Amino acid sequence: MLNIVIFGPPGSGKGTQSARIAKKYDLRHLSTGDILREEMDKKTSLGKKVSEYIDKGLLVPDDIVLKMLYDYAAGHMDSPGFIFDGFPRTIVQAEALDKLLNKRGIPINIVLSVEVEEQELFKRIMGRGEDSGRSDDSEEIARQRLDVYKEQSMPLIDYYKQQGKIVTIDGMKPVDEVFDRICQAIEAVKAV
Ligand code: ADP
Repeated sequence: MLNIVIFGPPGSGKGTQSARIAKKYDLRHLSTGDILREEMDKKTSLGKKVSEYIDKGLLVPDDIVLKMLYDYAAGHMDSPGFIFDGFPRTIVQAEALDKLLNKRGIPINIVLSVEVEEQELFKRIMGRGEDSGRSDDSEEIARQRLDVYKEQSMPLIDYYKQQGKIVTIDGMKPVDEVFDRICQAIEAVKAV
């Protein structure tokens, strides 16, 4: 089993790279952002609650996200592996994921940290906002999401560094080059 976490600020290209990684290595792509947006589109009471956070650029509370993870995992444990995209985003979530996987003796093999300069992130998010239709792709909300990333998600870099799992990827490069570099990093851990 191959389990990958891809980590990076909003606009770093995690979603695009995750889809390609999932296809190449036959992994299940678990994007908490996509799952949450699906719930919002269904306009369920949970979906409405979720949109209150997302539309403000805040993180959805850990208990909601973790319940979703457990439900999803329960239905997909037969997968050859996962790429976790946009999850974990807090230390609480990372600890919960470690616990869930440890119980089954499944390791996270690698954590890809995609780095992109702030100015470029804004440019990408603003560009995407025009056709993504995402309620959180406006300048003000993007700024908020970036602040949240720095405060709540960046501590995960140290968390996974301590586990010796972080590989830094230069996300400023063209999509194909970023993907090549990611594949090299994955091949290196697969060979171990
Ligand atoms: P991006 O990485 O560009 O911000 P995502 O689709 O990964 O896009 O996430 C969009 C929004 O969904 C986040 O700003 C946050 O509100 C919510 N979200 C996604 N994943 C999580 C998570 N693991 N924990 C809490 N909130 C999440």
